[in-house]
Amino acid sequence: MDLDFGDVLAAREVVYRHLPPTPMWSYPVLNETVGATVFVKHENAQPVGAFKVRGGLTLLDAMSPDDRKRGIVTWSTGNHAQSLAYASSVFGAACTVVMPGTASTAKAAAVRGHGAEVVLTGDDLEAAQRYAEALADRTRARLVSPGDTPELLAGVGTLYLEILEAEPELDAIVVPIGSGTGAGAATVVARELAPACKVYGVQSASSPAAYDSWQAGELVNRPNRTRVAGLATGRGYELPQRLLRTGLADFLLVTDDEIDAARRRLAADAHTLAEGAGAAALAAVLGRPDLFEGRRVAVVCTGGNADATELSGLSGL
Ligand SMILES: *Cc1c(COP(=O)(O)O)cnc(C)c1O
Repeated sequence: MDLDFGDVLAAREVVYRHLPPTPMWSYPVLNETVGATVFVKHENAQPVGAFKVRGGLTLLDAMSPDDRKRGIVTWSTGNHAQSLAYASSVFGAACTVVMPGTASTAKAAAVRGHGAEVVLTGDDLEAAQRYAEALADRTRARLVSPGDTPELLAGVGTLYLEILEAEPELDAIVVPIGSGTGAGAATVVARELAPACKVYGVQSASSPAAYDSWQAGELVNRPNRTRVAGLATGRGYELPQRLLRTGLADFLLVTDDEIDAARRRLAADAHTLAEGAGAAALAAVLGRPDLFEGRRVAVVCTGGNADATELSGLSGL
């Protein structure tokens, strides 16, 4: 299990058969507020509302026709599920997503909307994972880990090619982290294209499993209490952590309230709708002027799938 720069270049051939590059803009009013030159990479403009679709398409493309017929099984409550469901429909593959019984009906509906099957079971994501493992065993479908699948990292790495080809002279790229696929891939691309550009990871202080795994140098489990869905992970993943260990300049924590404030900033100053995870990078930049003031910084707006609570939280600008 590994990822190198060539894998990301190969993935781009696949991704561009299905998706155009996303825009990246700098907004003077936002720059003024932040005190830095900020480039917002709009992954919320993807067809499923998040960057993960790049990985889903790359994975399905790499599977043989026989494997696609047997299909894939994964576990997730959110954008990973939608991404694999979307990619499976593009490639005519069977897809089953196991979600905790507590998952919102809106999320299940979004996944079913792409033609995937949803199984609602158990109390949490760990239980969903165990069910998915047993199901894959029984049906010989491919079990897809949201964090430890190299094709997913190769695909999401293409967004960092786009960032650094558009702006080769960046001082930093700031990436929100759940399982760490995005940030892990970012370190591989930055090392090759812009070794002077620092990659920072950001996680919610309420779900610090990836942060603590990175600090400890080993995979740890942590309480998972953030209300920010895209960052809600209770464990570290092996492949992303291995890449982050050598490639990350630093790992920053933000509070859920800081993330909400950053979502309002993006709405007001960058006229864009971010879900919580999509605003975490900006929250980190706003919180650490000592690192970012006067710099040229890309913040990845990873997704825009704001739920009803997140939408109503946008008021009070
Ligand atoms: C999954 C997700 C993240 C976290 O990405 P990882 O690759 O799991 O670290 C961040 N933002 C959004 C919108 C996501 O869907």
